[in-house]
Amino acid sequence: MPELPEVQTVVSQLDTKIKNKIILKAEVLAPRSVNLPAKDFLKVVKDKKVLSVSRRAKLIIIDLAGEWWLLSHLKMTGQFVFCDNKKCTVSGGHPIGNIGELPNKFSRVILDFKDGSRLFFNDIRRFGWVRLVNEEQLKKELSKYGPEPLTSSFNSKFLQSICDRYKNRKIKQILLDQSLIAGLGNIYVDESCFEAKILPTRTAGSLSEKEISDLTVAIKKILRLAISKKGTSANTYVLTDGSKGNMLNYLKVYQRTGQKCKRCGGTIKKVKLVGRSTHFCDSCQK
Ligand SMILES: [Zn+2]
Repeated sequence: MPELPEVQTVVSQLDTKIKNKIILKAEVLAPRSVNLPAKDFLKVVKDKKVLSVSRRAKLIIIDLAGEWWLLSHLKMTGQFVFCDNKKCTVSGGHPIGNIGELPNKFSRVILDFKDGSRLFFNDIRRFGWVRLVNEEQLKKELSKYGPEPLTSSFNSKFLQSICDRYKNRKIKQILLDQSLIAGLGNIYVDESCFEAKILPTRTAGSLSEKEISDLTVAIKKILRLAISKKGTSANTYVLTDGSKGNMLNYLKVYQRTGQKCKRCGGTIKKVKLVGRSTHFCDSCQK
């Protein structure tokens, strides 16, 4: 599933492609991918201008004129494809083989813009969604998330406070909890713990003040690096032009089981923790 850096990359690319465009019509091909009956969905988005595309946690937020927002979560296999009269480009998300003619059997929602360009939301497994919300619904949805890790509200004091509150939980479990911290997933939690030399299997209550400070710094550093490399292309994510994010080359533990630790030469291990594959080096992470 795309995490904060991947969603940020999708958002930046979508913003350059659809900002200021006016929606001519919408087609809902899969009713369960949206939150309103197709007729109502169309009625609201028709003639609306796209003001901006932004991100909160792993959510994509398309701000429409008239106090309406399209919220989207790519989940496992969602992708946006933007087509103008020249070509179609995958705006991040799952690399569904050769896109071929659109719409295809994975197309769930289509937005047609007045200038003739189109935006397709495709999703193989249909866990992803596009929801049309008003301001109250938007606020409610966004309030489910903890602070953004790259803002000043995410700092050592904050991380200390949640570690104090959930002393017996594993630190990895805390970092993955979207209601406590927004946007982190399996890849960047493992990488951040490695960077901070902390085992992801530790309980939150066992972390010293210095370790919490190191972990805070590590999370920000890893996310900034990942955004600058346009995210990690595992098997569920590619960029607008179908190319891959470069972050894969910078990962130090994730999916490196059995390989040599880049820091100490130890061997990278993998265990299941809170149902997730967890990668670490137990020689240099304590
Ligand atoms: Zn090591």
